Amino acid sequence: MKTIVLGYPRIGEKRELKRAIEKYWKNDISEDVLVKVTSELRTKAWKTQQNYGIDLISSNDFSLYDQVLDMCITLGCIPQRFKDLLGLQQYFAMARGHQANSVDVTAMEMTKWFDTNYHYIVPEFIKNQYFKLNSNKIISEIKEAKALGITTKPVIIGPITFLLLGKEKEEGFNRLNLLNKLLPVYKELVLEIDQEGVDYLQIDEPILSTDLTEQEQAAIVKAYNYFSKIGVNLKFILANYFDCYGKNLELALKLPVHVLHIDVVRCSLQLEDILETKLLGDKVLSLGIVDGRNIWINDFKKSLKLIERAKNELGENQVWIGTSCSLLHVPYNLELEENNENINSEVKQWLAFAKQKLQEIVVLKEKSFQEEDVRVNALFEKNQEANQSRKVSSLIHDQNVQQRLDSLKGTDSERDSLFSIRQAQQRKELKLPVFPTTTIGSFPQTKEVRQTRSKFKKGELSQEDYDAFIKKETEETIRFQEDVDLDVLVHGEFERNDMVEYFGEQLEGFLFTKLGWVQSYGTRCVKPPIIYGDVSRPTPMTVKWSSYAQSITHKYVKGMLTGPVTILQWSFVRNDQPRSVTCNQIALAIRDEVNDLEKAGLKIIQIDEPALREGLPLRKEDWKAYLDWAVNAFKISASGVSDHTQIHTHMCYAEFNDIIESIAKMDADVITIETSRSEMELLKAFVDFKYPNEIGPGVYDIHSPRIPSQEEMEHLLDKASNLLPFGNVWVNPDCGLKTRDWPETKTALKNLVQSANRMREKL
Ligand code: GLN
Ligand code: ZN
Repeated sequence: MKTIVLGYPRIGEKRELKRAIEKYWKNDISEDVLVKVTSELRTKAWKTQQNYGIDLISSNDFSLYDQVLDMCITLGCIPQRFKDLLGLQQYFAMARGHQANSVDVTAMEMTKWFDTNYHYIVPEFIKNQYFKLNSNKIISEIKEAKALGITTKPVIIGPITFLLLGKEKEEGFNRLNLLNKLLPVYKELVLEIDQEGVDYLQIDEPILSTDLTEQEQAAIVKAYNYFSKIGVNLKFILANYFDCYGKNLELALKLPVHVLHIDVVRCSLQLEDILETKLLGDKVLSLGIVDGRNIWINDFKKSLKLIERAKNELGENQVWIGTSCSLLHVPYNLELEENNENINSEVKQWLAFAKQKLQEIVVLKEKSFQEEDVRVNALFEKNQEANQSRKVSSLIHDQNVQQRLDSLKGTDSERDSLFSIRQAQQRKELKLPVFPTTTIGSFPQTKEVRQTRSKFKKGELSQEDYDAFIKKETEETIRFQEDVDLDVLVHGEFERNDMVEYFGEQLEGFLFTKLGWVQSYGTRCVKPPIIYGDVSRPTPMTVKWSSYAQSITHKYVKGMLTGPVTILQWSFVRNDQPRSVTCNQIALAIRDEVNDLEKAGLKIIQIDEPALREGLPLRKEDWKAYLDWAVNAFKISASGVSDHTQIHTHMCYAEFNDIIESIAKMDADVITIETSRSEMELLKAFVDFKYPNEIGPGVYDIHSPRIPSQEEMEHLLDKASNLLPFGNVWVNPDCGLKTRDWPETKTALKNLVQSANRMREKL
């Protein structure tokens, strides 16, 4: 029985990768220095896994930005507009756009990786798409590990997942038909990898966790039959994760691969299904039994039952155990939290990060072979005690919260009147111009802002001095917004490190790590809170800064909150009760905050739900149940206010067409969405649905430093206003501005206001 890890975190325990790349972007370090940093990170990851005794350790799980972008480069799938650039300049231009001298190219799209909060770069395909083997990254990482005495199992993204995650950039063809051109390049790659003498190649096809059409299923069969005929010594591991194989199970079982990996955490029942079919033949079954998506300790007893069941049926050589998916989605190491007063010993025993999960895998293996080993048995007992204490701990269970949830009524999730009535009242009350301009909430988080906040957190700055600083930043931002003449202002969110962390820190039931970083996209990392207990709000969380901002201007300031679904989605969530229950608990806390903001005199309140879509289950049949409780939770949070208070929501990185009905059910008075990179394509869903409420389709792509011109934004607004009911269009960026610098933000927002002015002039 071998142990396998599908992938390891790559950003570095202390975000060394982020730091190095950002320095490289600023020309503070050379490419050579960057390469050295990355090599150290890889070495450390490999050595850690080796020291724990993991048998199958990945290479090519490292990436400078994103593994799908790496695959685009490897397969020579590089859009024409980047062809004049080379090397890393080309690579990062594809990720974030490039504006220098006479070159001005826009980035490729980015979207969520399945149901995670990781974002990948969306491959672009054209009709005459051409592929060629174009990078030696995979080979050089194998060699690099070999030099350290480690034979890795390289991991690549499979051809069907690669094609299906991408987008056709021209009409008149189906990207699946590019498979014939793609397979020979994969073949070349597989042959090269085989030359390196590796034993296994892991091919990730998480697309198997989704509903596939017959044509897509046929493509899978075709691809893997093709691979099996390449004639190599290495063995293929086919890895699916994030859900069951579902209707793709029979097909997967029959594929000519050596190892089939299943996500036992998300789908423990499929083990029985697989064993019953007897279709596995002599394939190895790799049991992804240690959770790569969450931070709770494993339940050894439960896992051993499953492992024993598989071993008895298949024999020990035909069963592997490992992580459910790549450990990319969990933080590095719980040991780094030693001085974290949030994580006392009671809580600590419930948690396992990447490094601890390595040990879990190994202990599970040992326990299943050495029943009597004293050390292993002690670890087993400890695990059982910890799981037991979680079930009863008073840190977790709060009677009051549970009673409040039980007494929720249907009317608690409805506004007093229909949108049309509210809209009329709000127009009378607010008197905003047509094409009202606003931003999504945050303004640039400069080094100074981040340092000051962190000094305050460390106790190096008094509350007074900190408040004075935030006041100054907020005031300057208000004045700037007044100067450029935006209509609805925001306070700038300088007091917030992160849109979820900020709220979680003030809510009961949440706990925070100091170094629990997880990659979100590129160099952007997040520290998801851990929701471990029943959630409640002891005191107001945002009223102080929002009402301060409102008090110093005659324009409207928008109160700024993160919605319950997003807080849930971007946290590590309890696995001891349904997600919907946790979400409703958060919704009640946010509702209290919304009501308090209204009382404090804010007339406009935004409840961000950028993560609504990513919470969708991977299979369509599970969508309705999720959307019902998610939309309801948003409405619980938004429905405590009177009709003339305007509720905004905001969503980004989303395709909207298949959830438009639910977005409409949310019934926010205004929704701002990301659309600029897609040339308003994403707006189509709202138009086709005849979405009645107001919309701000983003006209300024804030994911890159590129400054959009007034003409460019006006062109997007022309498009939008031709499509949407008159008077319903807002003018705003795609998302918050916290990752941008001030100079570019200033120019861009000036251009943005001008574009709105031009629209008004044209009326
Ligand atoms: N209000 C948040 C901000 O501006 C929204 C961020 C988001 O949608 N991801 O930063
Ligand atoms: Zn956003």
